Amino acid sequence: MAGKIPRTELCSVTAAAGVAGGQILRMLDPDEGVPPAWNGTIEIDAFGATTYTRGWTPQAACRCGAADHLARTAAAEAAKAAAQDRAGATTGAP
Ligand SMILES: [Zn+2]
Repeated sequence: MAGKIPRTELCSVTAAAGVAGGQILRMLDPDEGVPPAWNGTIEIDAFGATTYTRGWTPQAACRCGAADHLARTAAAEAAKAAAQDRAGATTGAP
């Protein structure tokens, strides 16, 4: 890499900013669940047209509260899915 000009950084940074903006908008929408990048990272190579998503598990001992928040969010998502299943069973919708 020494002496080489990274020709794709601007494209990858722009793509990453767009994805980050989408994740933030999704996070702010009360009708949406947690965004796909929640507790994870997305690596984007604009030149190679590849993306890689990696999940990270919050550490229970961390005082930031992410592990507790994740547990509450998972419980809320499960309750929402169960309610939708019950509603589907009542209406006969798939
Ligand atoms: Zn933490």
